[in-house]
Amino acid sequence: MVTLDELRKINARCIHCRACQYAYSGEPDKEGETEEYTGMLQGCPAGIYYGWEGYFNSGKQWMARAFLNDELPASRELLEVAEACTTCGMCETQCPNYIDTVHVTEALRAAVIESGVEPLDKHKGFGTRVRDPEMKNPYAEPFTERTKWYSGDVDNKDVKVAYFVGCTGAYRQQHVADHTASILKKLGFDFTVMSEEVCCGSPLLRTGQRDVFREVMERNLEVFKDFDLLVYSCAGCYKTFRNDYPTMSGKPLPFKVKHTVDLVYELLQEGKLKINKDYAEKVTWHDPCHSIRHVGLAIKKEILENSKNWLLDERAAKKAEAEYYEMPREVLRAIPGIELREMYRIKGDSFCCGAGGGVKAQFSDMAMATAKERMKEAASTGADVIMTSCPFCITNFSDAVKALKQQEEETGKDLSDVGSKMKVVELLEVLDQLIE
Ligand code: SF4
Ligand code: SF4
Repeated sequence: MVTLDELRKINARCIHCRACQYAYSGEPDKEGETEEYTGMLQGCPAGIYYGWEGYFNSGKQWMARAFLNDELPASRELLEVAEACTTCGMCETQCPNYIDTVHVTEALRAAVIESGVEPLDKHKGFGTRVRDPEMKNPYAEPFTERTKWYSGDVDNKDVKVAYFVGCTGAYRQQHVADHTASILKKLGFDFTVMSEEVCCGSPLLRTGQRDVFREVMERNLEVFKDFDLLVYSCAGCYKTFRNDYPTMSGKPLPFKVKHTVDLVYELLQEGKLKINKDYAEKVTWHDPCHSIRHVGLAIKKEILENSKNWLLDERAAKKAEAEYYEMPREVLRAIPGIELREMYRIKGDSFCCGAGGGVKAQFSDMAMATAKERMKEAASTGADVIMTSCPFCITNFSDAVKALKQQEEETGKDLSDVGSKMKVVELLEVLDQLIE
């Protein structure tokens, strides 16, 4: 496990320039379609919601430094500020000094907890439930019902591909799991799901509970070790396996990993898949932070870490990152009839849905305010549909639309200009209807 102390050198690169507070940092002349969305725009959900320095990443980096230098003691107050962050990574995209901002924040949370401060109430509940042998998931659902949604092949060790469903797909957004399994069948994959799968550990790692995280990581690595490929529909599970398991276990993964969107993209590129049915909707695309930005950032980082010539490779790294961000857009462009209307903050500069990093459970008001801000940005494009590829983003956006509708009923005001009429749609669900 990488400790905060081991990240000391990375944290020391912070010059407190505060570029990380703004999407399109360093692009003051960037033009948007509307006056509201133009130029450099604040992009940190925590900083925007709470409104003071400690909640922005620039403040968090300095708190981490003060903690490392014994100038700031471990306390519940420090943990509360450190935990109020969706770990979205917008700040990491902006930092001119290549600071792994989210990694530092997560390590700070862990260091404070390891110094004896109790995890915050709701976060502690994640750990208790994931450790409970009757549950092994943060939703307090029975472990024996993890694969209840699925009528297909379970625990088949003769196949080489497994679908890692994740707790949200297994217990909350089962339609996403259903559509994913259906797509995999249509694409010709011989796959299974495993009844011994447990929580990927993302909510535990993000909130600083590394002991429980280590237990579930080791369990999952054991359960899936004989497969060649693991496929994911959840952005958080995918990022956790792809980026965090190797760092936290100190070993490369014993299998390949892919998000379903990557699979569909590859098959389209190879000409092995054609989408013939129409989806005649005005659509805006929301990049899930964990499967798009964090993977894009990791691709860039992996090139730079192996570089012997930064000057040359920095360009190649940025190009590879940019190409990754195009991937879901290429999938959307392959759908006949779709009209893609991009929001202002997209790709590495995307604005978070507000749910991640333990925020939805512990800081539900911030999660809701962030989702509403994103819905407003989506509505400003004139699209009728907001589409994404993460069950947790779907949950938070759906909650925001519900709250806006309720507000309309209570006040009698039409709130369609801020997103009350938007349809929240999962890409896999649409693809399943369009692929034969
Ligand atoms: S993290 Fe990077 S962008 Fe943010 S204040 Fe520090 S040096 Fe500046
Ligand atoms: S990860 Fe996101 S919420 Fe956290 S400090 Fe950075 S921009 Fe703000």
